[in-house]
Amino acid sequence: MKKRRAAKIRAGETMPVAKKATLYRIAGPVAVAKGLDAKMYDVVLVGKEQLLGEVIQIAGDKTIIQVYEDTSGLKPGEPTVNTGKPLTVDLGPGLLKSIYDGVQRPLPDLIKAMGSFILRGAHVPALDEKRKWQFVPTAKPGPIGGGQIIGYVEEVPGFKHHIMVPPDVYGQLSPMKPGAYTVSETVATVTTNDKRLVNVTMKQPWPVRVPRPVKEKLAPDKPLITGQRVMDVLFPIAKGGTAIISGPFGAGKTVNQHQLAKWSDADIIIYVGCGERGNEMTEVLTEFPELKDPRNGAPLMNRTVLIANTSNMPVAAREASIYTGVTIAEYFRDMGYDVALMADSTSRWAEALREISSRLEEMPGEEGFPAYLASRIAAFYERAALVKPLGTDKQSSLSIIGAVSPPGGDFFEPVTQSSLRVAKAFWALDARIAQRRHFPSVNWLEAYTLYSRTLEPWYRKNVAEDWNERVGRISALLQEEAQLLEIVQLVGSDALPEQQQFTLQVARLIREGLLQQSAYDPLESYCSLQRSYRIIKLMTLYHEEGSKAISAGVKFGQIAALKLSDRIFQYKFSKEDSEADVIEKDIKERISALEVAQ
Ligand code: ADP
Ligand code: MG
Repeated sequence: MKKRRAAKIRAGETMPVAKKATLYRIAGPVAVAKGLDAKMYDVVLVGKEQLLGEVIQIAGDKTIIQVYEDTSGLKPGEPTVNTGKPLTVDLGPGLLKSIYDGVQRPLPDLIKAMGSFILRGAHVPALDEKRKWQFVPTAKPGPIGGGQIIGYVEEVPGFKHHIMVPPDVYGQLSPMKPGAYTVSETVATVTTNDKRLVNVTMKQPWPVRVPRPVKEKLAPDKPLITGQRVMDVLFPIAKGGTAIISGPFGAGKTVNQHQLAKWSDADIIIYVGCGERGNEMTEVLTEFPELKDPRNGAPLMNRTVLIANTSNMPVAAREASIYTGVTIAEYFRDMGYDVALMADSTSRWAEALREISSRLEEMPGEEGFPAYLASRIAAFYERAALVKPLGTDKQSSLSIIGAVSPPGGDFFEPVTQSSLRVAKAFWALDARIAQRRHFPSVNWLEAYTLYSRTLEPWYRKNVAEDWNERVGRISALLQEEAQLLEIVQLVGSDALPEQQQFTLQVARLIREGLLQQSAYDPLESYCSLQRSYRIIKLMTLYHEEGSKAISAGVKFGQIAALKLSDRIFQYKFSKEDSEADVIEKDIKERISALEVAQ
């Protein structure tokens, strides 16, 4: 009897609304409730099963809710409860190595609890509530400000997960005790300037639609090194920058996003699988746990959070997965880390926006997408930045790389265009190039980056003084090749002057020896900047020496017969970087020998 009463009171507590709110209409992912006292973006528990939803429109006494779970079977008349809170994620130790769905439910726990057929209305905590973490205080008692670091836990071996005071808390920090705490236990107390006592726990919620504050946004000035030559050499992205990888089905977006997740030199990787086929996500789930970090040999998952929202999951959750991902990413950035977020594919999110907008009978914009598509996309990419976080003097960054899947590879469609307005690097994948098995299928004539200038000093200082000159020559040769190939189509290559035949050979070498890079070959999958530099040096040196010889009367055929280009091509597979020195010496000696023999 007693028990029942207690249960009743508790139910009453979660029902803050006096008026009984009920469902009025359900259309796919959109539900309409009547009599609900709600604000925009309040989280609502919909129906008897308490499906998770979010208020996206209020019209008179009707509240329109996008539901993050499958709505089939939901009926008008079912109760609906407003939690009065926005959609939040739980931030704290235990994020790393996690695999979440779009609303931050741990997928493995869901599957364990409910079988691979995920039941609806499951409320599983995002962070393990039982696990004890060894908390090490680092801040001294006394004045403390929002976002400042008060201590850390070693979340995975060698990684300090810094515990920060919530961004809006300013006051006096009381002495802390080291020890083992769960994420919900108080590790510190702060007496705020207006004399409130704030208990700081390691778990801190944050509303996903609100960007986390920073002290200052800075202009990006160092590259995010991806280990992928075409990107690192020709179309780099900065740490804190934005890029899109766009191309039709089968062009290689997913493989490339995986490559970036594996090899980018970020401290933390957030990978959002958004609305793509389930088996691609399965690949990530089975493959990633096996991979080792090239920097320290530790499992790559140790620095990764996966968010999996596959095509068979409800469309509204795609939106949630994007926001959940970026908020977790900002949280690690705030600790002082470099974070990179990959989202594959933002087009599926845009399609979800389109579907929901059409259910709302909003006035459609271009190709049926809502008029606010561009501003939503912009707001997402604008969360990328190189920053001074609130709580440390270190610089840290959040880089965002979004995949876009334009139908038929048409870059003029609204999602690509809206993304291009904000993203500063454009990795255009090309179906024709992919068909020739040239991977990554980045179209070197169409792709671009707006970071070259800003990154120039960094490359000069950290890789080689002449990096930029050599890269410039590589680009110029590729452009020249495109023009020459047009002539060749008309007259054949034999009709070209010796010098231009040679240019064609070098350009081909650049395409095959530099731009092509197999994701599956262990010797090739990752290429250091030092090795990339040696490759471009070999190629530009070969072009330089060969061109000189040709002007001195040597024939292109004589240079080709030296088979130097094969050796330069093979260099990318060599085990030792220093093998380039031998090839370099041979290029100089053999070609000048031809000149002397003239
Ligand atoms: P998308 O996501 O654009 O539909 P995928 O990323 O699934 O395309 O790539 C399709 C196929 O292209 C892959 O299965 C793989 O065979 C090939 N591919 C793409 N990128 C590479 C790469 N860097 N190295 C080797 N093969 C690649
Ligand atoms: Mg794909």
